[in-house]
Amino acid sequence: MRPFSSWHLTILCTLLITLFVFWTFFYVYNNEDRNIRSLEYDTVWSATNGRTEFYKFSNSLTRFLYSRTQSDLDDARIKFEILLGRIDTWNSGSFKDFLNETPELIPVFSALRADLDYLARALFPSSQETPEEVLPVLARASKKIDLISGTSYQSSIERFANERQKFRERLMNEKRIVMGLLVLAMCLLAIVMRQNLILSRANEKIAGVANQLAHMAKHDALTALPNRTLLDEYLNQARREMTLNEMVLAVALDLDGFKAINDTLGHAGGDALLVSLARKLQKTADSLPGRNLVARVGGDEFFLLSWGQKNRLRIDETVARLAGIFEVPLETSIGSLLVGASIGYAVAEGTRELDFVTLNADLALTEAKARGRGTSIRFASQMRSQLERRLQIERELPVALQRRTIQPNYQLQYNLVTGQPVGVEALARWFHEEIGQVSPNEFIPIAEASGDVIELGQFMLKTACRDVQRLPGHIRVAVNLSMVQLLNDDVFDLVETTLRETGLPPRRLKLEVTESIFMHNVETVSSVLTNMQNLGVAISLDDFGTGYSALGYLNNFKWDELKIDRSFVNACEVSSKALNIVSVIQSLAEKMNANLLVEGLETSEQVTIFRNLGCRYGQGFHYSRAMPIEDVCAWFSRNGDRAGVKADIGSAAGL
Ligand code: C2E
Ligand code: CA
Ligand code: CA
Repeated sequence: MRPFSSWHLTILCTLLITLFVFWTFFYVYNNEDRNIRSLEYDTVWSATNGRTEFYKFSNSLTRFLYSRTQSDLDDARIKFEILLGRIDTWNSGSFKDFLNETPELIPVFSALRADLDYLARALFPSSQETPEEVLPVLARASKKIDLISGTSYQSSIERFANERQKFRERLMNEKRIVMGLLVLAMCLLAIVMRQNLILSRANEKIAGVANQLAHMAKHDALTALPNRTLLDEYLNQARREMTLNEMVLAVALDLDGFKAINDTLGHAGGDALLVSLARKLQKTADSLPGRNLVARVGGDEFFLLSWGQKNRLRIDETVARLAGIFEVPLETSIGSLLVGASIGYAVAEGTRELDFVTLNADLALTEAKARGRGTSIRFASQMRSQLERRLQIERELPVALQRRTIQPNYQLQYNLVTGQPVGVEALARWFHEEIGQVSPNEFIPIAEASGDVIELGQFMLKTACRDVQRLPGHIRVAVNLSMVQLLNDDVFDLVETTLRETGLPPRRLKLEVTESIFMHNVETVSSVLTNMQNLGVAISLDDFGTGYSALGYLNNFKWDELKIDRSFVNACEVSSKALNIVSVIQSLAEKMNANLLVEGLETSEQVTIFRNLGCRYGQGFHYSRAMPIEDVCAWFSRNGDRAGVKADIGSAAGL
């Protein structure tokens, strides 16, 4: 029920005041009217009675004058006494006021009293007055009484009329005041009501805004899907209400290559894709059994929580239906787009597992991403230990950099035709006392995310430029450059300074970059790379043939070397298609005047295949693993003859 509001109170007060004014007005009117009337009736009544009493006395006296009996005398005397009493009252109170206000009556009144004195004498038994003497006096007195009584009546009527007139005027004024008050009250009421209306509208607006804010706090602005807050509320509710035969399935979903989509189609394109995907996810969730919630928890990360009876929820089917969304192009406001997604999912069969269910699904998603695009993986307990390892690496990486426990090792690169080493690739190695060998595949992405890769890259470059000078002069060193380093403004200065400080001729340095650098600013990256090339440093395109491998990247820059990814090595052994691709890459490299190097050669057969395909350079376990610089030096002193102090033909060509 709504509380008794202030404007209800105002209306009530106004009504009460109005009623009170009216009541007062009528009360006063009635009483005053009655008072005036009673005042006037008093005088008239007294005069009329006096007159009646006089006539009664006159009759009794006349009877006595003719009968002269004792009883008539007594009667006349009683009537006379009554009359005298009345006349006495005329000399006081309101009647006297009336007489004073009518001065012409004062001599009449005195004369009447004199007449009465005379008549009193006629009331003695021994009186000798005859009727002829007394009756004229009675008639005279009667006239005076009539005059007084009549005048009293007349003046009473006039006074009453006067008073009434005055009263009416006052009444009119009061009426006007009351009407004024009433109008005022009405105006006040109208103002209050208007004010109230404005207030209640403002209130409604505030309530609307509050609702909107509450909605915004729990929903994503772009897709209108619930956000992380609502997702947590859903989980809390499940924690309170989930029964033994129920479970919650959490599916984490992340788009593959969303960044590239954003970069190519712009943010509007990316947004259109997310909105369309959100709708499709919601539609799918609506058709699933149980209580389902779809939330957007990050840029391109979504969650589905499905809560229901264990025997009704179909885990594999649900995940397959979500994965199926990405098998066909999504209809968006800017056209149809085909996009992939990685999926990680976990199940909570009890309330305790609910605490970790989204974390577990996230871990499974991380694993799915690591395994490659379009993968769906269910959470397994070892993923958590992997996470713990990752967290430990994150924590210890800065310490390792500081203590120089991360050092470069060098893998030899060969001329496949001559069988002579032509260079080394510097690969970072971290041996951790507790967790053992940590692969750069593990710590480089972490270092990239934290920014530590810049410091690591500086150290690797400086050390490699120094170390390679311990090797024969024709041996070049290849150093990997991370995308994060390339996006950093100082990378050119770093290379230039390092070459100057270490004294390494620029032609002995090769920098390896991956095509992902062009996901960002093509022009900036190209100009930085060109500047370095102008110094004399060679630039190699690493991992070629993986990732996006858009041939457009080849045109963006004049590469010195294309480095065929390890995945082609095995593929070429079994698939003629892969062989054809490598052959195309080879002719492409030739046309671009770039060297071709294949990595991951593990057997002599593989070496033969790639040499026959026209690929001139290679590296891999077949030749050597990455070794500390001392081991590389030792290798060169052992194999001095084979390694050939003579320069490799390729190096003469500038590589
Ligand atoms: P990458 O640049 O493609 O390096 C080649 C990787 O293949 C190295 O792994 C190497 O040990 C491995 N490899 C070489 N030959 C063979 C073979 O015959 N068979 C097999 N199975 N593998 C072979 P590694 O050292 O674990 O490095 C992994 C990745 O980490 C590198 O791939 C590179 O992208 C990155 N990385 C390593 N050191 C650095 C560094 O100093 N800076 C940056 N930014 N990235 C680095
Ligand atoms: Ca490399
Ligand atoms: Ca590579």
